[in-house]
Amino acid sequence: SKLFSANQNHQKIFSPPPPPQQQQQDSNPHAAFDTLDLDGHFSYQNTAHAARDFGNRFFFRPAAVLHPSSVSDIAATVKHVYEMGPLSGLTVAARGHGHSLQGQSQADGGIVVNMESLTRRPSQGHLRGGGGGGRYVDVSGGELWIDVLKETLKHGLAPKSWTDYLHLTVGGTLSNGGISGQAFRHGPQINNVQQLEVVTGKGEVVTCSEKQNAELFFSVLGGLGQFGIITRARISLEPAPNMVRWIRVLYSDFSKFSTDQEHLISLDESFDYIEGFVIINRTGLLNNWRSSFHPKDPVQASQFVSDGKTLYCLEVAKYYNSHHDDAETIDMQIQGLLSKLHFITSTLFVSEVPYLGFLDRVHVAEMKLREQGLWEVPHPWLCLFIPGSKMDQFASQVFGSIVTDSSNGPILIYALNQSRWNNNIKRTSLVIPREDVIYHVSFLASAVPSSTGKDGLDYILARNQQILDYSSGAGIGLKQYLPHYTTQEDWKGHFGPKWEVFQKRKSTYDPLAILAPGHRIFKRQY
Ligand code: FAD
Repeated sequence: SKLFSANQNHQKIFSPPPPPQQQQQDSNPHAAFDTLDLDGHFSYQNTAHAARDFGNRFFFRPAAVLHPSSVSDIAATVKHVYEMGPLSGLTVAARGHGHSLQGQSQADGGIVVNMESLTRRPSQGHLRGGGGGGRYVDVSGGELWIDVLKETLKHGLAPKSWTDYLHLTVGGTLSNGGISGQAFRHGPQINNVQQLEVVTGKGEVVTCSEKQNAELFFSVLGGLGQFGIITRARISLEPAPNMVRWIRVLYSDFSKFSTDQEHLISLDESFDYIEGFVIINRTGLLNNWRSSFHPKDPVQASQFVSDGKTLYCLEVAKYYNSHHDDAETIDMQIQGLLSKLHFITSTLFVSEVPYLGFLDRVHVAEMKLREQGLWEVPHPWLCLFIPGSKMDQFASQVFGSIVTDSSNGPILIYALNQSRWNNNIKRTSLVIPREDVIYHVSFLASAVPSSTGKDGLDYILARNQQILDYSSGAGIGLKQYLPHYTTQEDWKGHFGPKWEVFQKRKSTYDPLAILAPGHRIFKRQY
């Protein structure tokens, strides 16, 4: 009965009373979906889980959760909603691992599709070998990246571009972009996809790629789930290393730190991973909750005295294969790269870890935080792209006076070079500043529940707003990553010149605005 009581609520707000035919359906609401011939099933009871996400701030309860066992389950459901027409008012949200921050994978009174139940289909994990760029894996949109990695490693292969945390789904990160320390070279994850299978907002199952249904392909990549549900993705692979030299060095001068980052991302032969973070007014200099970095020389690390200064930590990694590569050659390459940098010389910290452990590093920290009950707290994150030309100005104001300490959570900062990416990134829905060099800056705060102090939600949200207000006043020209806005005007501002195309794509692929309502970009058409 929830399905249709939710509709009635919507109708009260947006539309006239339903016609007699609709009222008749209301008396037996489940009948509308019970007629579908599904491999999986709907659940109308245990829906609370689908009303939560990692952000822990937005809770919209769906009327039903679909646990699909096949792509046709998803297609039949969306098609049915589409064909019920405007008056049903129903929306459909794909839910990956629910690691959104502001309810983006929720559907208030609508249907949530639990994408993880699709991973059990037998055709998943299809690997193709072949030389050159021909290697790929076909995975379900609901697959976790950690499982993709474990599967491909069995064949000595791995995807090229990652997120820092791997317990996210393929469909979820491809709907956003997917960035980490490999993106300076390979581009975001959406730059490393060869083909997608998508269920559109009309319930059609469409295979798309650069060459086939290209407009849909590029719409969906970075498309915030607005144009279709990704049911399968073909991900490019490369030979996998098995070990990683993981290095951290410190700077007290931002311009030296950023000059070195930009130098490293410009080289053809560089590190394989380049990131960084800011340390303001705190102890525990080398570590943070996101990683488990254990330098080989912990005594030296503990002896470093920061005198309360703001420090910038450059974090780089060199991959190698211990069966094929000569350790001395790797060391020489690392030495060659480090010798051109300008960090504080006493602050070179090196760790040696297996490749899988390196990529899965945030999960280790997750387990620790979970034990302490510190994982399921509100996460008022603010993730940004800053044009390279404005980065010094942004850093001096934001790290100099707005953010007075970094103990609420890590603040990541790393440079990316778009000119090294596949030019097709411009055709995707991802919005980034229009400069070759851009910085990703993420304030990854955790709030202490019900605290009214500096570690509380209100304080952190106000600080985030201060950063946005300052940037807007100073003409920084930033773009939000994992964007969150509450009005369509703000969304238009976010997309800028891309808005018209975005809107046109929406009217083509999801004309009733059924999909991904949690972003609140388009209103369901009644
Ligand atoms: P969900 O939150 O479930 O969904 C996200 C959006 O995509 C929703 O709008 C949903 O409707 C839609 N969606 C989900 N599945 C599909 C599908 N199959 N087809 C179409 N649309 C779909 N991001 C980075 O880029 N780099 C990082 O390093 C990074 N680190 C993170 C670390 C942590 C601890 C967390 C919590 C998040 C991190 N993220 C990072 C952000 C992450 O990419 C997003 O939160 C993403 O939305 C999470 O994916 P999910 O699978 O949980 O998707």
